[in-house]
Amino acid sequence: MPDDPSLRRGGSSVIEFFPPDVFEADRETLFEIVRAIGTGPEQRFILGEATTRLERELAASLGAADVVACSSGTSALTLILHAMGVGPGDEVIVPAYGCAPLAATVVNLGATPVFADVDPWTLVVDPSDVEACVTGRTKVLLPAHIFSVMADMPRLLKIAERYGVRLVEDSAVAQGAVLDGRPAGLWGEAGLYSFVQVKSFGTAGEGGAVVTDNLDLARDIRMLRNHGQDGRRRFLHHVIGYNSRFDEIQARFLLHRLPGFPERLERRARIADYYTRRFSALAAHGVIAPPPGRNGRCYYVYTLLTDRRDALRDHLARHDVASHVYYPLPLPAQAAFAAWAPPGRRWPGAERASRCTLSIPVHPLLTDAQAEHIADTVCAFAVGTHDRR
Ligand SMILES: *Cc1c(COP(=O)(O)O)cnc(C)c1O
Repeated sequence: MPDDPSLRRGGSSVIEFFPPDVFEADRETLFEIVRAIGTGPEQRFILGEATTRLERELAASLGAADVVACSSGTSALTLILHAMGVGPGDEVIVPAYGCAPLAATVVNLGATPVFADVDPWTLVVDPSDVEACVTGRTKVLLPAHIFSVMADMPRLLKIAERYGVRLVEDSAVAQGAVLDGRPAGLWGEAGLYSFVQVKSFGTAGEGGAVVTDNLDLARDIRMLRNHGQDGRRRFLHHVIGYNSRFDEIQARFLLHRLPGFPERLERRARIADYYTRRFSALAAHGVIAPPPGRNGRCYYVYTLLTDRRDALRDHLARHDVASHVYYPLPLPAQAAFAAWAPPGRRWPGAERASRCTLSIPVHPLLTDAQAEHIADTVCAFAVGTHDRR
């Protein structure tokens, strides 16, 4: 198998976690876009017609009332929370296991992140613990669809309604996922996507977007995106905002990549289905595959759970397969967020996840032979027949 030329990418035989040649097929188009915008008579590099077209096409494809393109996923989250008036004295309930922006954006607005535990298998926030975290100061519930499974939005929506709090979805890596017919990002009052290179709808740089059915919120977010101006008259500032403007080159490039997006997601899902079939018998050997299926799923990553995580990681590396540990610590165990971790509070689901998760490659450029090699390598490890070189 290691001599199979299909396993070679970029001059090495290692199967990369993220493909280094992700934009290779689009490279000439990217150069043409740079040239066209760089030499265009308008000399318009930000917030031009391509940005507007991207916003409209994304909104149409989602059936959303509005999409606001901005400078990153983190920025999108900040704009949403700011537009909702989140600030000092407010609490935002976030997952105890996930990426830093979930808590950092809340802290940067002067509010308090309250960490709710995650389910040990689905790795998304546990609605019962979210409900237990609600206080009179709770302003927003902020679940995230982080691994391949969307958070339990029907239950979270009920909790938000019961307590009269707002619901925001961190759908940064769930673009294209649909739960019970409703897209990720449109279950909450607002959602967001990240277009940074490695994300499913990544671009050759940075970018993000807010998606919402609330037109008033969208209007406020559009203003906050460009220093509180309303887009009609410059230098009239209605509110204090940010610089979170969108780049025209990225907009044109994403418009070019948009028609191929469903097919790339489908390729990811097919590889994930194949892995899950291959791994279904491994639970007895202590290697657990993510929940199967397509409803509420987005295979941005494919994450296994095993108590022998580091050994599996080494085994994969010896067989030329790169893997990734997303989040080696629960958020409240990170030094940055220690001040917001109540003493004595434990998050057993997040603690277990941080010891046991290992993500394997699932990107759409994997060949069938590579997916097979990865599955074979995981299976050999689990059943203990691997050579101990
Ligand atoms: C990547 C990511 C973000 C941040 O997006 P950026 O574009 O990198 O700022 C936020 N939330 C989640 C779940 C992410 O994976």
